Amino acid sequence: MCGVFGICAKQGVDVANLTYFGLFALQHRGQESAGIAVSDGSSVRVHRDMGLVAQVFSPAQIKELGQGSVIGLGHTRYSTTGSSRAENAHPLPFHHPTLGPGALAHNGNLLNADALRAQLQEQGVTFETALDTEVMARLIENTHGRSWEEVIRRTFARIVGAYSCGVITPNQLIALRDPFGFRPLCIGYIPLPGQPAHVIASETCALDTVNAHFVREVQPGEMVVMDERGVHSANFQVSNKHAMCVFEFIYFARPDSILKNCELEDARIRMGHELAQEAPVDADMVIAFPDSGTPAAIGYAEAAGIPFREALMKSRYINRTFIQPDQSLREAGVMLKLNPLPRSVRGKRLIAVDDSIVRGTTSRRIIERLRAAGASEIHMRISSPPMRFPCFMGVDIGSTKELIASGRSVDEVREQIGADSLHYLSIPGLMRAIGRGTAQEFCRACFDGSYPVPVPQQLEMDKMQFEVTTGVPARGAGGPVPGPPSPQLAKI
Ligand code: AMP
Repeated sequence: MCGVFGICAKQGVDVANLTYFGLFALQHRGQESAGIAVSDGSSVRVHRDMGLVAQVFSPAQIKELGQGSVIGLGHTRYSTTGSSRAENAHPLPFHHPTLGPGALAHNGNLLNADALRAQLQEQGVTFETALDTEVMARLIENTHGRSWEEVIRRTFARIVGAYSCGVITPNQLIALRDPFGFRPLCIGYIPLPGQPAHVIASETCALDTVNAHFVREVQPGEMVVMDERGVHSANFQVSNKHAMCVFEFIYFARPDSILKNCELEDARIRMGHELAQEAPVDADMVIAFPDSGTPAAIGYAEAAGIPFREALMKSRYINRTFIQPDQSLREAGVMLKLNPLPRSVRGKRLIAVDDSIVRGTTSRRIIERLRAAGASEIHMRISSPPMRFPCFMGVDIGSTKELIASGRSVDEVREQIGADSLHYLSIPGLMRAIGRGTAQEFCRACFDGSYPVPVPQQLEMDKMQFEVTTGVPARGAGGPVPGPPSPQLAKI
């Protein structure tokens, strides 16, 4: 996850404020920390800290950052490498020996960060954090070139993995997307008199927030440079294989965003239609695990001709920050966020729809609560296939040990979560619902274990932990043992 937003404008445009607004629209992509870097044409200033966007920036700070600035780059962070500390917040500042200061904001995960770090350390480079993003920053500092474009192009040619990045320099905003296009990144513009302001954003919903028009997605392997002369682009790495993360369509990206020309709310409603066709069941009503399960639940209800009802009250005031890295507190967190409406569910046969099951904490606890509130039957329908494999491309979904479906059959998962029936959307059903591009254009490794880029052995060993063998389709067969909880997986 993580959100990236940037703007390049002329004097007089409040770039800090617009970046701040853009980050609000990308808050769902990361709640641990936030930061904004600005440039006035000669220097780069950064303010970053732990917390939500509204907690990190006061109006006075935004005003101060805005003074004289013409370029802004912001980030919301959800950690996949490195711990939750303020020094790990992005944008990460760097200083090139001949070209000067800059800062980097990254969404993704590098696969060769350890090897690059070791090479740099051999050259005497020291590191302050365990972040893969710092490896990128130090690599920029240690790459020769006559211009920023040359340095950035040469730096990123050495990087393998998932990255959608924004780089701010004293007079440029540079956007880059890895050759597989794992994470989204798009370009827009704000029509201003004289000269438009150019914008980059992880999702189109952030363009809407600042009244920017969508231009296009940054292409996989493309570098887009924005400066006072306008926008120009170059391909820095070519790949004939694209692999956008399919989970962006299922859960991560906001439903009001558009990815690959696909309106996400529509795609999620269609996932519900597909689910209803694949797994019909007689029931009194369809309910959603809000908010991310809602479009698929609406779709299921539409296709099945069964009424959709609100049955779980969601507290709008709980966010991940309040959930501690401890399983009992995580479980309490689920209860704090979602509580059944007893009158709606008493004596009812429910079809409960959610977008995914990761550890099973949410479904197990909510099913318990719905039963306690008097539901007579609970049929779980999930708008994605069983998640059986870890992600190495920018999503913190832990190791196989932590994934409830890894090493379990669907019926075993059903039993674990206490549902009367359980059905996960099939991969073909999912691809039909997305209806854009071919299946080969997506990364679906969390469902089928087929990683588009070879994963270094050490990384694989850390996350592929199979301990108990049962007969389940898997690249490495095995049964999950409840693993240490990770603070990053609470549902928002
Ligand atoms: P769990 O309770 O561990 O089974 O997590 C599943 C719930 O978390 C679902 O309701 C999803 O909407 C949500 N979810 C799925 N993937 C993630 C993720 N990577 N980070 C945070 N929440 C997630």
